[in-house]
Amino acid sequence: DIILRHALRMESMVKDLLRLARLDAGQEILEPVACDTRALIQSVVSDLTPALEGRGQHVDIAIRPGAETLRGDPAKLHDAIRNLVANAGIYSPERTTIRIEARSESSRIAIAISDEGPGIPEDDLTRVFERFYRVDKSRSRDPGGTGLGLAIVKHLVELHGGHVRAENRPAGGATFTIQLPAIRTAPAERIAPAV
Ligand code: ATP
Ligand code: MG
Repeated sequence: DIILRHALRMESMVKDLLRLARLDAGQEILEPVACDTRALIQSVVSDLTPALEGRGQHVDIAIRPGAETLRGDPAKLHDAIRNLVANAGIYSPERTTIRIEARSESSRIAIAISDEGPGIPEDDLTRVFERFYRVDKSRSRDPGGTGLGLAIVKHLVELHGGHVRAENRPAGGATFTIQLPAIRTAPAERIAPAV
């Protein structure tokens, strides 16, 4: 039913716009804790399993040494990773594999989500994070999103003091990488302040 479909799209667009407005206004407070990286990623994949299985897509998760734990707000990181994995599924053909790799880089933890889809035109690699920006639909499958998902991802990641970037894989497909500052173990954080 086309009217219901439009109503649902409108609802999700309004929800995303309200969230961006709250983020812009600094109204979403970060509640960072130590998170188990695998549990975080696994919970995203579980949420998306019905949609991914429906397209015969498989998810491969690798947690490299040193990336077992990260510091962040689990609900916000869940939303960010979920957006990226959902995109990887939506913009890739059926029966492809989505790879999620968490690794430790000098002072950061990186979470990379790679797919076997069409990738992103080089000129659009930074623009896809802009509000309402969508790659020309003639170039890829168009499932009819609103172009706000990646703007929210960028906001959530930057709230953590991190970065997100898009690249094309040499073998084809896109990789989105979230980089988060590694856990700091400053003395002030370990020792309860004397009052
Ligand atoms: P929504 O707001 O519902 O998420 P959307 O998916 O169109 O809508 P974004 O998630 O912000 O919006 O993505 C912006 C655009 O970037 C998409 O329309 C698509 O053209 C492109 N894109 C995002 N992820 C991928 C990907 N993994 N492979 C290829 N293109 C992608
Ligand atoms: Mg999206």
